[in-house]
Amino acid sequence: MDSRSLRPEILVIGAGPGGSAAARALAEAGHEVLLIDSADFPRDKTCGDGLTPMAVRTLRKMGVLAQVKAAGAQRIDYNRITGPFGLSATMAFAEYQPDYPYALVLPRLILDDVLRRYALAAGVEFRGRVRVEDIRCEGDRVMEVVASTPEGPLTLQPRHVVIAVGANMGLLKRAGFITHRPRFIRAARAYFDGVEVPPGREMYDFYFDLKLLPGYGWIFPTGGGRANIGVGVLPVPWSTRQPTHTLLDEFLERHRANGLGKAEPASPVKGYPLRIDFPATRAAGENWVIVGEAAGLVNPVTGEGIDLALESGLIAARCLHDDIRRARADHHTYQRELWDRFGPMFSGLRILRDILITPVFTDYALLLMRQHKFLTTTVMKIAQGIDPPANVFHPLFILQFFLPVTPRLIAETVGRAFARQHGAL
Ligand SMILES: Cc1cc2nc3c(=O)[nH]c(=O)nc-3n(C[C@H](O)[C@H](O)[C@H](O)COP(=O)(O)OP(=O)(O)OC[C@H]3O[C@@H](n4cnc5c(N)ncnc54)[C@H](O)[C@@H]3O)c2cc1C
Repeated sequence: MDSRSLRPEILVIGAGPGGSAAARALAEAGHEVLLIDSADFPRDKTCGDGLTPMAVRTLRKMGVLAQVKAAGAQRIDYNRITGPFGLSATMAFAEYQPDYPYALVLPRLILDDVLRRYALAAGVEFRGRVRVEDIRCEGDRVMEVVASTPEGPLTLQPRHVVIAVGANMGLLKRAGFITHRPRFIRAARAYFDGVEVPPGREMYDFYFDLKLLPGYGWIFPTGGGRANIGVGVLPVPWSTRQPTHTLLDEFLERHRANGLGKAEPASPVKGYPLRIDFPATRAAGENWVIVGEAAGLVNPVTGEGIDLALESGLIAARCLHDDIRRARADHHTYQRELWDRFGPMFSGLRILRDILITPVFTDYALLLMRQHKFLTTTVMKIAQGIDPPANVFHPLFILQFFLPVTPRLIAETVGRAFARQHGAL
C-alpha cells in the first residue's frame, strides 16, 4: 500500500479513550478502521487519572474492565469533599450508590495503552506519530485529511471520519469545526510519592479551599504510596487565577496534615485545559462525527472526561454503523443521541457547579450531606451524571434541603472546622 495516500473506510483521529472506544466498536461491527495519533504509544496524558463509578460501568460494558484492573488500577471506595472552612463529608460509594459501588485510579500512560491495544485486538489498524495538520471539507463533507509523519506528508481520503483529538483546539479551529471561544477549566497535576493512605480507606479527596475558589484541589491515590495531586480553576468572569506550580505547592503545604507530611514530587507539574463547552459546537456532519473532549464533553463540576469520551465514542460507533447500513446521507442521528444523553445533564451541572463554588453554599451543602442520606445520594448521582438534574425536584430532596440542620450538628461541625483551622485537629 502506498504510504503517502490512504483511503480507509473509517479514519479515527486520536487514540485517547474516545477514539479507541469508537475504533474498537466499529471494528467489532465489521468495519475497516484506521486509528491514528500524533503520539507514539504508550504516551502520558495530563489528567487526574480518576475512573469514576460511571467509567467503571462503561469499561465493564465494553468488556475491558478486567484488563484495566489487571494493569494495576487502584480501587477507590470513598469520596470526600472538604469545604472552604474545613467542613467535610465522606461518602462510601457502595452505601450511597449501590449500583455504582466503586471507582478506580489508573495513570493514563497505562490506561490509554490498554484501551488502544483492546481496539487493535478487534482488528483496528494503528499508526502512531501521524499528526493531522488539516481537515479539508467541501460543504459539510470531509474530503481530505492532511498529516505529517516522520517519513513525510501523508494524505488520507476516508469515507467517514471520527474526530477524537481531545482539547486540541488549534486543529478544530483551523479546520472550521470550532467558530466560538471554547470555555475550559485550567488544571495542573503532578505525581507525589510518600503519600500516606490508610489501607482500605483509599478515597477521591476533593478540597474546595477558600484559596483555590473558584476551583478545587484533588488527591487521588494511585497505589504504593503514590498519588496524583492537582488543582483546577473553573472559568468565571470575576477571576483570572491560573493553576500554577505555586498554587499546587501552596495546596500541598496546606494539606501536609492530610497524609501529605512526607510527600515528595515524583514527576514534573503539567498543566492542560479541560473543555467543558458542550453543546456549543456541531458534533456531526455528512461523513464526520466529533467525540469526547473535542466535543466539549467534560463534566463541568468534577472535571471528569474519560467516561464521557468512552460513552460518546460508543454512541458514535453505533450511529455510524447504523447510518452506513441504512445508507443514510449524513450522521445527524449521532448529534441527536449525544444531546439526549448529555444535553440536560450539562445544563443542570452548570447550576450545581455555580452553587458549589460559592463558599457559604458549599458549607451548607456539606452540612446537609452529613445529615440527610437521600439528599446526599441525589447530589452525588447528579454530580457524576448518573441521574438527571431534575431529581432535585423530588419531594424528599426538597424537604431535606429546607429542613433546618440541627443546631447540635452545626455546633459540632463548626467547632471542628475552627479547631482544624487553628491546628488543634
Ligand atoms: C489536569 C487534568 C485532570 C483531569 N482529571 C480527570 C480525571 O481524574 N478523570 C477524568 O475522567 N477526566 C479527567 N480529565 C479530563 C480527561 O483527561 C479528558 O477529558 C479525556 O482524556 C478526554 O478523552 P478524549 O479521548 O476525548 O481525548 P484525549 O484523551 O485528550 O485524547 C486525544 C488524542 O488525540 C491525539 N491528538 C491530538 N491532536 C492530534 C492531531 N492533530 N493529530 C493526531 N492526533 C492528535 C492526542 O495525542 C491524544 O492521544 C482531566 C484533564 C486534565 C487536563
